[in-house]
Amino acid sequence: MPEVFRNYIDGEWVDGPTFENRNPANKEEVVGLFVKGSAAGVERAAGAAQAAFAGWAATPGPARGNFLFKVADILEKKFDQLGAEMTREEGKTLPEAKGEVRRAINIFRYFGSEGSRLPGHLVPSERDRVHMFAMRKPIGVVAQINPWNFPIAIPAWKLAPALVCGNTVLVKPASVSPMSSWRIVEACHEAGIPKGVVNYIAGSGGEIGAAMVNAKPVRAISFTGSCEIGNWLHNEASKRRLRIQLEMGGKNPTIVLGDCDFKAAVENVVNAAFFSTGQKCTATSRAIVEESIYDQFVEALVERTKKLKVGDGMQPGIDIGPAVDQGQLETNLRYIAIGKEDGARLVCGGNQLTGGDYDKGYFVEPAIFAGVTENMRLAQEEVFGPVLAVMKARDFADAMRIANNIPFGLSASVQTSNLSRVFEFIYGAEAGLLTVNLPSAGVEYQLPFGGTKDSSFGPKEQGPAALDFYSDYKTVYLKY
Ligand code: NAP
Repeated sequence: MPEVFRNYIDGEWVDGPTFENRNPANKEEVVGLFVKGSAAGVERAAGAAQAAFAGWAATPGPARGNFLFKVADILEKKFDQLGAEMTREEGKTLPEAKGEVRRAINIFRYFGSEGSRLPGHLVPSERDRVHMFAMRKPIGVVAQINPWNFPIAIPAWKLAPALVCGNTVLVKPASVSPMSSWRIVEACHEAGIPKGVVNYIAGSGGEIGAAMVNAKPVRAISFTGSCEIGNWLHNEASKRRLRIQLEMGGKNPTIVLGDCDFKAAVENVVNAAFFSTGQKCTATSRAIVEESIYDQFVEALVERTKKLKVGDGMQPGIDIGPAVDQGQLETNLRYIAIGKEDGARLVCGGNQLTGGDYDKGYFVEPAIFAGVTENMRLAQEEVFGPVLAVMKARDFADAMRIANNIPFGLSASVQTSNLSRVFEFIYGAEAGLLTVNLPSAGVEYQLPFGGTKDSSFGPKEQGPAALDFYSDYKTVYLKY
């Protein structure tokens, strides 16, 4: 019988009917059974978070930070176990999963140390003997809705800053990968974070999400996921004037110029397009290549991609795991069919992998389409899988125009050795996260994270910017 993972409300583990979390590399394996929360559970959790708020907010920042250090230590002790569990629930390869666990630990330490800073403002007054300053205060009860693709890093980068600022939290994991964030909550419990400060409710997005946005004590919502759900949440949240932060879809470009380091550019595009099965929000889904090297670059991409091994991410030597579930596999295959229908040239992969162990999971060959033009759906719509559109640009200006000609603006990359082009890209690219001569995916936690245009809304996550969402200022004028 698989282990049952209960919800966590007001410091207690709560039972109920369960749903299955299955391994996408092996559908026969149930990774765990998770208690399916309800609207009533959300209400109870919101009440508990409200009741815990005053005590947690009054706990000194450095003491709150110490709890986060303890959480990091507990996660670190389970490092190998957490990596393996993530591979089994989400499908990414074991080295990728371990890298993500490391990042979650680092995030808890980073925000733990913020507890001793929580910087405000102290400025001189125009008036005599007036002392004026602004200090941070927490917002209250915060609801956090997580996607499946970074099942530990994203919950960590939402939860750690919320806690250190003094808020109390309701955590909702994605239903296909609820285990990694459950481990964080377990670590919060073991670290002795007071009851009601952290609450975890797994279950259907429709029911739990709607209950969270309607729960009276909730003052803010942080959401990462699809544009469709994010936009719906935004409408609902504005009715109650909730503070809201949305991180959503992308169609990220990598511009490849004729003067780039050719081999490195091929590596960077393949890495950004296909690693983690293309299921990173910052993944490259459009390579926009200067005409002078287009054919040669497509050929090199195909040659490199053919060497990638697709399979169960627990096995050594595997580069690409499965799609996360049947729905995502179907989306990938649908867009591969759409690419062909729209007249793009499939030059590599694109078949579902079958036979032997492949039949147990949701495996597809990474696909490269050449000859993709701007009006094709592959150039405009998010796939969120290992499907790369390679587009041709006359020159740098044309490449920039194509790169920006989408509704999204999450990440963008340029591959070039020309410093002026680098700066023109930095100033001209319509995206929140830029890389130069690196893959478009692969960010760190010490700087603000998030996009622009339809990809994002509200203050950024991570780095010092995270504090701006999870705290407000109280401004004080004092005559002495
Ligand atoms: P999703 O379907 O929007 O789900 C995201 C979360 O919202 C899940 O926890 C889901 O719960 C929940 N949800 C579903 N319906 C809801 C509702 N009516 N109200 C409130 N919550 C609801 O997205 P996904 O498939 O998990 O993730 C893929 C998407 O996330 C892609 O578009 C990707 O680009 C985006 N993403 C963006 C970033 C970024 O930082 N910009 C990072 C990662 C992913 P259930 O799981 O129970 O349905």
